[in-house]
Amino acid sequence: MDTIKSVKGFKDFFGLDAEIFEAIEKTLFGVAEAYGYKRIILPVVEYTELFSRSVGEETDIVKKEMYTFTDKNERSLTLRPEMTASVARSYIENHFETYPTPFKVAYLGPCFRYENPQKGRYRGFYQFGVEAFGDDSPLLDAEVISLAFSALQKFNIKGLKVKINSIGCRKCRPNYRKALVDALTQHYDELCSDCKRRLETNPMRILDCKKESKELKDSLPKTIDYLRDECKDHFNAVTNYLISMNIPYEVDNTLVRGLDYYTRTVFEVISEDLGSQNALLGGGRYDYLIEELGGRPTPGVGFALGVERLIEILKAQKFTVKEKSIIYIAYQKSSITKAIKVAQTIRDAGFTVLVDTKCGNFKNQLERSAKRNAKFTIIIGESEIASNTLQIKNMATKEQKEIKEVELLNALKERQNA
Ligand SMILES: [Zn+2]
Ligand SMILES: [Zn+2]
Repeated sequence: MDTIKSVKGFKDFFGLDAEIFEAIEKTLFGVAEAYGYKRIILPVVEYTELFSRSVGEETDIVKKEMYTFTDKNERSLTLRPEMTASVARSYIENHFETYPTPFKVAYLGPCFRYENPQKGRYRGFYQFGVEAFGDDSPLLDAEVISLAFSALQKFNIKGLKVKINSIGCRKCRPNYRKALVDALTQHYDELCSDCKRRLETNPMRILDCKKESKELKDSLPKTIDYLRDECKDHFNAVTNYLISMNIPYEVDNTLVRGLDYYTRTVFEVISEDLGSQNALLGGGRYDYLIEELGGRPTPGVGFALGVERLIEILKAQKFTVKEKSIIYIAYQKSSITKAIKVAQTIRDAGFTVLVDTKCGNFKNQLERSAKRNAKFTIIIGESEIASNTLQIKNMATKEQKEIKEVELLNALKERQNA
């Protein structure tokens, strides 16, 4: 019979991948907690309109990449392609504006985009991110960048650097838009068919169209030259805070980020050692998102990071996860009740314990213990039961010692780090 394979673009995590995944999750939430972010867990399915209204009708994500389907009640639903929109929806629905500001949440979960799978890129992928709402202070932008930066530093990724830009607010946009459209109109024939349409609907999206050349993009007007005083001051304040925080950054005026909801600060963290084209994470400010989804005007700022790519990078730099040592229990068949009790006692004390399930002779059990890379094997036979003792064998040195059963936990703790 044919076996069933996983869906194209979807990945299983096991072994080292799963261990690194877990280490990433622990580390990222740990750093987020240090900045006062609390975890939020959200559904993977939302009404399609949430994404068309927030991510933007003219983005590749909404136009081409969403897993959208109609449920049995004829509603259009979408597997979330990113999580900021869901967090914003939840903010409005659950009245998070009644909490002290800035309201800070961190998340990790699967997202879905129908893209061509490439190395380290999947159709089902995991995103970690943070969002902070209700405060437009440039200090909050800098703090979010600092959180992102220190999170990556925890993994000893070398050459980290922040790329930052400001794309201004509603007041700055019209002048910029006009200059951009003028410049693009001169290159109309070079534009791809999508961008010819975007020139009318949403010209800023042309800046992150993958089909347009870098030369063309570099020649276009820069948002930074069209900022009004408020946005200019905000941007200068953010970069000044980054200096106080000792975070290396570079202003990159071609950076715009591919989603409609960004305003003012946009940023990426790159590693110069990994090639500057590849951002490890990206984020920015989105001061109109809540309002565009029907909430009261509420500023917001955040970032998101793809977990699969981080796993690839950590594997390439030989990241290891410190494994807990294993205690193996070998026993004679008649001593099985004692073996089960001993296992429970040391598990309760925090050790990882494997009880041999096949039993049989001690030689075979010790071989299985060695295959599992156990640090110690505890041997329980009839004579040990009679004398309330146990044998404890160090699997590396082969040294075996008889100890009193009551002394087992202390003996293991003493030897644990030896
Ligand atoms: Zn502005
Ligand atoms: Zn294009």
